[in-house]
Amino acid sequence: MLLDRDGTLVEDVPFNGDPEKVRPVPGARAALDRLRAAGLRLGVVTNQSGLARGYFTESQMHAVHARIEQLLGPFDTWQVCPHDDSDGCGCRKPAPGLVHAAAAELGTVATRCVMVGDIGRDVSAALAAGATAVLVPTPVTRPQEVAAAPWLAADLPGAVAEILRRQHAVIPAAGPSRTRGTVLVVRADSAGDVLVTGPAIRAVAAGADRVVMLCGPRGRAAAELLPGVDAIVEHRLPWIDPTPGPVDPADMHDLTGRLAALRIDEAVIFTSYHQSSLPLALLLRLAGVPRVAAISDDYPGSLLDLRHRVPTGVPEPERALSLAAAAGYGLPTGDEPGLRLRPEVHRPPARLGTPGYVVLHPGSSVPSRACPPELAVRIARSLADAGHRVVVTGTPDERELTAAVAGSGGLDLGGRTGLAELAAVIAGAGAVVVGNTGPAHLAAAFGVPVVSLFAPTVPFGQWGPYRVPTVRLGDATAGCRDTRAAACPVPGHPCLAGIDPADVVEALRLLGVPADPVRTVSAGVGPAGATVVSASGGSGR
Ligand SMILES: [Zn+2]
Repeated sequence: MLLDRDGTLVEDVPFNGDPEKVRPVPGARAALDRLRAAGLRLGVVTNQSGLARGYFTESQMHAVHARIEQLLGPFDTWQVCPHDDSDGCGCRKPAPGLVHAAAAELGTVATRCVMVGDIGRDVSAALAAGATAVLVPTPVTRPQEVAAAPWLAADLPGAVAEILRRQHAVIPAAGPSRTRGTVLVVRADSAGDVLVTGPAIRAVAAGADRVVMLCGPRGRAAAELLPGVDAIVEHRLPWIDPTPGPVDPADMHDLTGRLAALRIDEAVIFTSYHQSSLPLALLLRLAGVPRVAAISDDYPGSLLDLRHRVPTGVPEPERALSLAAAAGYGLPTGDEPGLRLRPEVHRPPARLGTPGYVVLHPGSSVPSRACPPELAVRIARSLADAGHRVVVTGTPDERELTAAVAGSGGLDLGGRTGLAELAAVIAGAGAVVVGNTGPAHLAAAFGVPVVSLFAPTVPFGQWGPYRVPTVRLGDATAGCRDTRAAACPVPGHPCLAGIDPADVVEALRLLGVPADPVRTVSAGVGPAGATVVSASGGSGR
């Protein structure tokens, strides 16, 4: 658990070198003691450019930190960036250096850390390191930074309460020992949805004899990549499909028959927050399934044996894990809750050369989340100009788009990869530049950093790349925010159209993705020693 100092733990006194001016934020001591009692180790991660600017000395700063510990209790690590923006260091937030350093000193990795801060720089540093970020805004936090945050809390005690609640929610409920039989897991929508359900399916698999997955045709290829799935039943569910056909009684009888033949002991229905689990629960009852678990805000009557409820804003993988936990299933020790694929993923095509290229995936099956084609062309050109090797990927439907994008500097793989081959291409990438769509989750499964061109039609905190170094770009306040629109309702697709290709290049630098050495030499541009330009603004501290 990492915390920013000024404005988060203590009131922000600009360039403070005086211990007498230390004022903890309300409730800080009790909140931190809750975390300590829960066994969490605490670190402070703070920009102190006052050192570089000569506003206070290092010993004055240490006196301030001693006073903070006197008032708030001990911290397990203090990570301080003494530099100014002009120093171009790798530690000054929004760079992720301090977050990595704090994690290492705590004996862990950034993806297992939660970071709480009060400005966009704190959030950006945490996300760029792959940590979870919580923003506790103050009256001076910029509205754009509030809108872009994956997770908002009203104050520090509120942030701590929700962090502990989410941690507790994925621990399996204690109860009578589970029947280890055949468990049906369901996720009936697209590839990305299936991928983010992977951790929960691994949890179920750890407690079941056999896991059968029911998925739709658009999720089939992703289901085949998931560890823990023993068999797949593919069937289109018309109440989930975005372009649904009519409900055909014969088709429903067919599905019920297929489900009955599986002799299911228990079913766990995973859904997104705007989908209903109840129509399938009814069919499962008709198929004789004795125990059905699902998330449902709607009253389920006797359709569910376990009705689970989750507050909004929880990342999809954790939302699903909390349902599995409520049903008694938890990830085995050592299995982190991140996304993961079966190990036997294909090798990248040989003509891609050495790993380290940048994958640019401009399209999406949902148009409102796709990168505007004209912008994708400019991004490809900027990446190539900056010395990156660009590989452009897309579905067979997107060939025209990928050809146009690759035409300005890149290798066109549009329509030439199935999902498994795409996964292999992404596995060899230094980073992936992509909207809110399936390949972002493939990247997360390999720990490949993501530059997320994120249309705010759904919450970033729920659908952003999970536990992987990420830079979020795009206007989080655009008119399409929280509309779940499939086609952008705002002329000109402004949430993404306004992205500057230079910000994509800068995002790769922040993520530590080097330009291709060969191209770099010929271009005469080196990735090292470049000046840090803050992508997120933030205060001057
Ligand atoms: Zn620094």
